[in-house]
This record gives sequence, C-alpha cells and structure tokens, in this order.
Amino acid sequence: MAYVITDNCVKDELCVEVCPTDCIHPKKDEPEFEAATQLYIDPEGCIDCGACVPACTSDSLFAAEDLPEDKREFLEKNATYFGK
Ligand code: SF4
Ligand code: SF4
Repeated sequence: MAYVITDNCVKDELCVEVCPTDCIHPKKDEPEFEAATQLYIDPEGCIDCGACVPACTSDSLFAAEDLPEDKREFLEKNATYFGK
C-alpha cells in the first residue's frame, strides 16, 4: 500500500515539507514542476507513515485504501508518473 495524491492537489508542497522520505514529486526546484497538474507519490519511496494526510488542506491526499471510488484511477497515475 502507498499513499496517493489526486487531482484536487494545488501544488503548495505542504505534504513535501513533512514527508520523511522525499518521495513526493515534482518539487518546485524540479523542471517538471511547472507543467505538472498535481504532485505524485512514489509508491516505492513511501513508507506509509501518514504524515502527509493531515498536512494537506485541500483533501487531495489519501491512503490507497481510503481513496474515494471516483479517485481510484490515481493509484495507477501516481505510480505511472515514476515509471512504475
Ligand atoms: S505517507 Fe509518509 S512517506 Fe508516504 S508520502 Fe506521506 S509523508 Fe511521505
Ligand atoms: S499538501 Fe495536498 S494540495 Fe499540497 S501539494 Fe501536497 S497533495 Fe497537493
């Protein structure tokens, strides 16, 4: 299981600031940031600590098991961003 970001993301990096494994990308200092419509979580870097969920103020970040039915596709979209 991993945590997953969905399309409500406003790219404010509040989750990036609390993530202990630096598995949320792209970040502001990365070239992909501007074009990205949201941030993504690398499922292989995520340790399921849950710190990012309360940090997110736009209700866009979920544990995979808690994803709303209409956001299930983002499980794959997050992994695909990292080529997984
Ligand atoms: S659950 Fe923890 S490790 Fe995974 S993305 Fe959130 S803060 Fe990072
Ligand atoms: S805290 Fe939420 S809205 Fe902000 S970048 Fe992370 S997932 Fe996106």
